[in-house]
Amino acid sequence: MSAPVTAVRTAVYRFPTPTPEADGTLSWDATTAVTVELDAGGCTGLGWTYSSAAAATLVDDLLGEVLRGRDALDVPGAAEAVHRAGRNLGTRGLYAQAQSAADIALCDLKARLLGVGLADLFGRVRDRVPVYGSGGFTTFDDAQLAEQVAGWRAAGCTAVKIKIGESWGTRTGRDLARVRRLRELAGDGVALMVDANGGYSPGQARRVGAALDELGVVWFEEPVSSDDTASLGLLRGVLGCDVAAGEYVADVREAARLTPVVDCLQLDATRCGGYTGWLRCAALAEAAGLEVSAHCAPSLHAPVAAAWPRLRHVEWFADHARLEPLLVDGVPEVTDGALRVGTGPGHGMTLRAEADRWRTA
Ligand SMILES: [Mg+2]
Repeated sequence: MSAPVTAVRTAVYRFPTPTPEADGTLSWDATTAVTVELDAGGCTGLGWTYSSAAAATLVDDLLGEVLRGRDALDVPGAAEAVHRAGRNLGTRGLYAQAQSAADIALCDLKARLLGVGLADLFGRVRDRVPVYGSGGFTTFDDAQLAEQVAGWRAAGCTAVKIKIGESWGTRTGRDLARVRRLRELAGDGVALMVDANGGYSPGQARRVGAALDELGVVWFEEPVSSDDTASLGLLRGVLGCDVAAGEYVADVREAARLTPVVDCLQLDATRCGGYTGWLRCAALAEAAGLEVSAHCAPSLHAPVAAAWPRLRHVEWFADHARLEPLLVDGVPEVTDGALRVGTGPGHGMTLRAEADRWRTA
């Protein structure tokens, strides 16, 4: 059996945020989703990445040419061919995001051609994937944070995460006050997590981390830049909370740099080569004795998270949780703090015609 890819289509959607948003080191007022659809054998597979419109251009100009005519069932072969085609452009960053959207579409297409759910194609180990509520932007006032945390509690989340490291670590007093407020809002029995997005210097991260330990925080994400693996390792050695990073990983070599210096490896299927790359990087985490946490894109992570035994959780990121139901039909529901993983075909999601309202290209 084989099914050559006959068509490759891209689209770009821009979803404005309800209010201006920021973390420790970046601010934004919209999220751009780049979708890739692949046709073969009368079926269509869908993938997407959160990136720039330039990712769609890369697929239109280069990846599409590599994929058209290839057997849709040969996912690893396509991954290798796309990777090789990117040699002169550089295969990480934007290129890896374009490749990720295409790989997700190809995996979805393969499952649909075989008439099975994507989680079952990978090998399902669970039907429900635990999520944690994620958002808590540094731009939020107390009322906005309270409303968001109330939504996470209503959905049954047992862990919640806010952004700290405000304005490149220049507002640590407010950072810690917001964590104390989060403790009050989340209530007992809910784990507290924070993400500094690389906003602190190493010494500052150690001092803030000691204060976070006092407050019972269990997860300190990107206390320093993910490029500073030496400091991540030192912080992991002295802090009680888990040190986490990995959201920018593009391939196994980048994952291998982080596995020695984190307590839990984060992986993003929309950035690390799609489901194919995610599973390869997750194997490296396992070899280092680590669990994996899926970064953002909760709907897309449901099938692969359902298939990885050593999964900690999936990030139910506010921006993506809001826009995914506007972009696609078939988004998996969150109840009792977990995503219910669908039975297919594929990942079960298709582009909504109404999404054209947010389409820019
Ligand atoms: Mg993060």
